[in-house]
Amino acid sequence: SLCYLNGRYLPLEDAQVSPMDRGFLFGDGAYEVIPVYSRRPFRLDEHLARLASTLAAMRLPNPHAEQEWAAMVREVVDRNPWDDQSLYLQVTRGADMRRNHAFPEVVRPSVFLMSEALVTPSRELRESGASAVSAADFRWLRCDLKTTSLLANCLLRQHAVDQGCHETVLFRDGFLTEGSASSIFIVRDGVLLAPPKSHLMLPGITYDVVLELAAVNGLPHRVQEILEDEVRSADEVWMTSSTREVLAITRLDGRPVGEGRPGPVSEQMHAWYQAFKTTVMRG
Ligand code: PLP
Repeated sequence: SLCYLNGRYLPLEDAQVSPMDRGFLFGDGAYEVIPVYSRRPFRLDEHLARLASTLAAMRLPNPHAEQEWAAMVREVVDRNPWDDQSLYLQVTRGADMRRNHAFPEVVRPSVFLMSEALVTPSRELRESGASAVSAADFRWLRCDLKTTSLLANCLLRQHAVDQGCHETVLFRDGFLTEGSASSIFIVRDGVLLAPPKSHLMLPGITYDVVLELAAVNGLPHRVQEILEDEVRSADEVWMTSSTREVLAITRLDGRPVGEGRPGPVSEQMHAWYQAFKTTVMRG
């Protein structure tokens, strides 16, 4: 596949960065994963706005204006073979020939874009629903930033894989935060509940889409702190993300969620999400 690295478009196999890059040494970088449907990036402005806020919190000047980012994204999409893609974008604080935690005096950020074929959940997985385990959320206190420092997320995802499951649902101090790589929603008595945005979770682009679709379609919904017990006794639990879209979790820690099948509200939301994607693709 074709990627972009620091001003050049080149085959991914040929792309190289310095081992002194602060992304490699410290995980000192920001990233985004943008779904592309029929060669059109979905919610691009929102992804670029989230990138800008991660960079601002990192005190790393945004190396490109929004229109420049959009042009680079379009170029990488056009130069790759798939209609539906998962576009990855990363900015690090670049290389410095002295290893030093403090920022270099002159920062030359590394900018990298690549793309893969978009793989959304299979029909079988959507029909059975996903399985999840739970774990204590031991990440840091700025989970609202989409940074490449992902060791905790990697350990938490592997915790699920080790148990043959798809995702790890995280609880901090007895409250639901999110999944290791997804936002989590629950349904109780026909009401969709989402945890409020805070420093303890990523502000998901899909999370926003789901709440917009709930509002537009008149689905009762509330944003409020969700207790661990409320998740365990919920009628439905879902995970959402740019690549998993809306996916029901039907087993949590080996016990069925609700009836152990994807519930009606998740199926309705999945259908709204697919329809919404299609209108944006045509527009
Ligand atoms: N939370 C975490 C920790 C994530 O890594 C992700 C993205 O994969 C999400 C939530 C979902 O975010 P989005 O809907 O923007 O893909």
